Order: sequence, then structure tokens, then C-alpha cells
Amino acid sequence: MNLETPNVDLPSTDKEVVPEKIEDEEINEPLIHCELCDAELVHKLAQVLLPGLSTACVDNTSGDIFRTPGSVAAEMRKEMVDYITMRSEICVAESIILDNAPDAEVSDHPYDIISDFVEDFAATKRNLFSRVSGWVLSEKREDKIDDFVQEMDINGFWPLDRREAIAQVLLRNVDFKSEFHCDQKFHSVEELAEHVVNCGFRSLICTNEGCTATFCANHAEQHDSICPFKIILCEQKCSAFIMRREMDRHCITDCPMKLVNCPFHNLGCQSPVPYSLISQHCSESFDSHLLHILHSVHKEANEETLKHRQQQLEEASSLDYLRGLQNLRLLTSKIKEMDSKLGPLVVIGTKEDTEEAKDDASSETDEEKDKSNAADEKKGVPNAAEETKDASISTEEMKADASIVIQECNN
Ligand SMILES: [Zn+2]
Ligand SMILES: [Zn+2]
Ligand SMILES: [Zn+2]
Ligand SMILES: [Zn+2]
Repeated sequence: MNLETPNVDLPSTDKEVVPEKIEDEEINEPLIHCELCDAELVHKLAQVLLPGLSTACVDNTSGDIFRTPGSVAAEMRKEMVDYITMRSEICVAESIILDNAPDAEVSDHPYDIISDFVEDFAATKRNLFSRVSGWVLSEKREDKIDDFVQEMDINGFWPLDRREAIAQVLLRNVDFKSEFHCDQKFHSVEELAEHVVNCGFRSLICTNEGCTATFCANHAEQHDSICPFKIILCEQKCSAFIMRREMDRHCITDCPMKLVNCPFHNLGCQSPVPYSLISQHCSESFDSHLLHILHSVHKEANEETLKHRQQQLEEASSLDYLRGLQNLRLLTSKIKEMDSKLGPLVVIGTKEDTEEAKDDASSETDEEKDKSNAADEKKGVPNAAEETKDASISTEEMKADASIVIQECNN
């Protein structure tokens, strides 16, 4: 709501400022203006006019048994156009007032300015009934306004092209910063014609196949950056080129780089892995997967004990041929078999050792975190944070395991 202008009384026109450009033309030879402006915004402004008119008509006739919105529409439209045009013409003076009051939080976007004019006009047209009866807040009013908008639309009461013509005039009047219309002037028709083909406000149609969007040349880049029909490289960098609007679907279905759980997820490997890199991951994370398997076999054992067991396994036979094996069941059964051949587990960590082990483990963990993070970044493996979490969890588990060992020793 524009705070600087009264809602009810029309502002006086005494303060009207004569635009500079008219002086120019009087002094020099007449100049020809480029008429182009932001077509999208003009369209948007034209959309504001119909609901505005409907609101004025409905509020003006609510509770009145002799008049309907339709019966006042033609007269109301004329009044509204006169009112908002006049407001837009004196808007330069208002903007000077605004500039002098920088604290006032009033938008200077043409859309907001013109919406306020329309709203102000409708507010002046409320009859006594709609002012005192709580009508303004009722849902019935909203429905009636929507219905009347539709009715006018269907009957072609105020066609879009006429509304756009008015919107264009309004826009030129209130766009002080020339952000949405071209303010260039020329000495000859030829000069103008030369300019128009390069004007930043000339209308363009999107060249991406399937897209029908139109926009002014100034916004071409902006549209391109969001155009749903533009073909772009897969966001997950799988080397496929995909239409932007298909990207989400591609990324969670066909994309070879979509993230999936590691086959050893249930055993504790929490890092999501790009689908096409599972075998690489299984090979690279073989040692940690092996530990996870050993942990599932010897649930009570602590980390040190398991690491020792892992060493024993590796010394007993080369495990290289198992690297890259993605079949959890196969790998688990092979490891179990080899593990059972090694005989009973050697528990590592006495009461004193355990205290030291705990300290070592926690100081090591920090280092390991750094190392693993750095390594992860190099490999491009996602969710380094998850890995880190694993490290801290295993420290916790170690402490728990240590206390079990202590209990066992005491018994
Ligand atoms: Zn231009
Ligand atoms: Zn497009
Ligand atoms: Zn992809
Ligand atoms: Zn894994």
C-alpha cells in the first residue's frame, strides 16, 4: 500500500512535473522515441487490471438489490483507467517525495506501484455496505470477485490487447529508472529502425526446442538459465546431456552417477556410492569392508582385536582375488571360512592397555578423519561427513567393547 498517497481523495494535480524530455523536444528538433518495453511486465500488469476492476464493481454493488457488478462495469472501467493514468502521471512527483524519505519502505518496482494504484482505486469504490459489514474479509466476496473476472473474460469485456496498451502507458510513466522500457530517442526514422533490431527491449522467442517462452532481449540470458527445455550436462556429471525439466527424473533413475547404498551398507559401510563406481568403491574400501565382516562374525570383539585378525587373514593367504567382489554373501562366507581356519580369536587389550588404547584411538581418530577427508575429496566420494561419523561411532563401539573385555578379564 502506498503510504504517501491518500486512499480516498484523488491527489491534486497542482504539483505535476513537466517531464524533461518534452522540453528537449521543444528546444531541439522533434525526436522519435523507441517505443519498446518489457513485454513480460506489460503482460503481467495487464493481468492486474481485470481483478482490480472486478473488485471495484463487486464492492460497489454488494448488498445492493438494484445494481449488479455487470451494470456498473463499463462506467467503472473508464473511471479506473482515468484514475490510474492520472496517478501514474503525477508519480514522478511522488517519487521525489519518496527519495527524500529513504526510511519509507515503499517499493519502486512498476508492478508494485501500479498494483497499489489499482488497489487504491478499488478501495475508493466500496459502498457503505462493504465498508461496515465485514464484507471485505468474507470468502463470499473473494468468490464473487473471481466469478466476475471470469465473466468479463469470457465475454471479452476488456480484451488483453487493450489492457496491455494501457499497461504500456502506465509502465512508461512509473518506470523512472528506465529498467523496463527503452528511453532512447532518435533524429530520424532510419536511426530508429537501426536501433530497434538491437534494442534490449525487443521481443525474442526462446530457441530451445519445445519452449514457447517470449522475453525481451535483456532477459535472454536469465531465461536461458532457467529454461526447462534447455539441454544441459547431467547435474551429477555422468556425461549425458539432458533436458533441464527431465534432470530430476534422470538423476534418480537412469543416471549412472546416481547415489546408491554400498552393498555393505547393512554391515556398517554408510557412504553412498555412485552407481557406476560400486566396483571401484568395493575395491578401494576392501579393508574396511573386511573389518565390517569380521565385526559381524565376532560381535563382541574390539577394533584392535579385529584389526589383528585381519592381519592374520592377510598373512595366511593373499586376499587380492577377493577385492572388488560386490557379492556380500559370497564374500562373507569366504571370509568366515578362512576365519574359522585361523582358530579362536586372540583378544587384544588388557585393563591398562585399554585406557591407552582409548587415548590413542581418539587422537588417531582426528588424524584419520583429516586423512580420510582429504582422500575422499581426491576420489570424489560423496558424504565424507558420513565417513567421519563412522570413525566416531567406532571409537564409541571400541569403548563399549573394551568394557566387555574388562568384564571378561575380571570374571
Ligand atoms: Zn529501444
Ligand atoms: Zn525457453
Ligand atoms: Zn546423469
Ligand atoms: Zn562400502
